[in-house]
Amino acid sequence: MATISENIQQLHGRIERACHQASRPVDSVTLLVVTKTFPASDVREAFAAGECRFGENYVQEGVDKIDALIDLRDRVEWHLIGPLQSNKTRVVAERFDWVHTVDRLKIAQRLSEQRPATLPPLNVCLQVNISGEDTKSGLAPADVADAARAVAVLPRLRLRGLMAIPEPAETLEAQRRPHRALAELMAALNRDLGLGLDTLSMGMSADMDAAILEGATLVRVGSAIFGARSRPSPPPSPPSPPSPEPAA
Ligand SMILES: *Cc1c(COP(=O)(O)O)cnc(C)c1O
Repeated sequence: MATISENIQQLHGRIERACHQASRPVDSVTLLVVTKTFPASDVREAFAAGECRFGENYVQEGVDKIDALIDLRDRVEWHLIGPLQSNKTRVVAERFDWVHTVDRLKIAQRLSEQRPATLPPLNVCLQVNISGEDTKSGLAPADVADAARAVAVLPRLRLRGLMAIPEPAETLEAQRRPHRALAELMAALNRDLGLGLDTLSMGMSADMDAAILEGATLVRVGSAIFGARSRPSPPPSPPSPPSPEPAA
């Protein structure tokens, strides 16, 4: 079986080939190593292989790994890429560097209020339901401009771009379509609102090549590095639960 380090090396070869095919510089694509369900020892191995950006889906699991790897804290970035509910925003604002899954203004407001003044602004992406699936979280494309305008002015956040998890598709052409739509949406925000967004968070193990062809700047890859996850992913969180506002 290939080691984590070998898989990472292979993955960089794959990123490089996709960049060449897209006539893009290789350094225009950043690898986010998705570590959900894998132990801190695997994250440490990926760090030893040269990786310094890690993505977690569940807040508590992420915090546990941040703590287990606290000796690396100044040299790595932790990204939350899973659903975020309003009662969990404080620990996220305090412990993470990025949140990719902002899909409501209320979540963004809480993250901004709760981001400690001692830390740099929290990097955020707006999650877009680009394939229009009923069950997926994310803003409808038509609502993204208003949300971006509102989030961009929050003082303790830095709005970096858009994120999506498109519906799985078999062919490269079918995979490219939603990624292209997300890229066009971000280009429109930059053009019409003058926002200067620089991050298109799209592409996973199965559709990374299509995403890079359409302009992904950050690909989120787990299983191609660590192998298949044995623990199943928990069900997606219900959309925008009408949760009571916890005391600030
Ligand atoms: C799990 C996950 C990934 C990584 O998926 P792989 O297929 O393991 O590469 C990327 N993004 C999100 C939001 C995820 O939940």
